[in-house]
Amino acid sequence: MTNTNTHALVITGGHGFQEEPFWAMFDSFENFSYDAVTFPEAFKYLSVDGAKDYDALVFYDMWQEISAAQQSAYLELLNRGKAIVSLHHALISFPDWDEYKRIVGGVWKSGEGTVKHDVRYTVQIADADHPVTKGLADFEVEDETYGNFRATPDVHVLLKAEHPDSAPVIGWAHQYGNSPIAYIQLGHDGHVYGNPGYRRLVNQAIRWGVDRVKREA
Ligand SMILES: [Zn+2]
Repeated sequence: MTNTNTHALVITGGHGFQEEPFWAMFDSFENFSYDAVTFPEAFKYLSVDGAKDYDALVFYDMWQEISAAQQSAYLELLNRGKAIVSLHHALISFPDWDEYKRIVGGVWKSGEGTVKHDVRYTVQIADADHPVTKGLADFEVEDETYGNFRATPDVHVLLKAEHPDSAPVIGWAHQYGNSPIAYIQLGHDGHVYGNPGYRRLVNQAIRWGVDRVKREA
């Protein structure tokens, strides 16, 4: 492990959230700095040149519209290689862009997927040997669950839940183009932003992606 700083861009927009405890989570990470941007301004950064100052992009948006030019700029970035972490409602972004499902590694379909607030359940660590989950044991959260959505078959499953209001697979890692991508379903509000297990997952997901891009460069 090195102590070099990781610099991330945290992207929001299209969905409200509790700002203060959300940013407090990122402020708690060591050797970490970040800029924050919202859609549609965030599109400026979703290209090879636009993202060059960032080691990782963290998506906590639920933006709906994306133009063909914005899609191809983002795909070029992903093919070049960038660490991507998608959180919670970022699963539901860009519903009309089919490729997005393959990028994020899962699909929550309007009319099929469900949401339920304030559910108490246990986040199960499906693979404790992965860099995203290392050092973590199963932990309890009170959070919004998504039901009836699925991960794409090629993802490496990291987190599971056994609860009637939740899909069984709720976190994963995979690769798209040359970009490592992690998705973590948890993360609706301050109940979970302050949870040490959740913080560790988000932090380690960022580090995993950054390390992987550096190793392959
Ligand atoms: Zn939510």
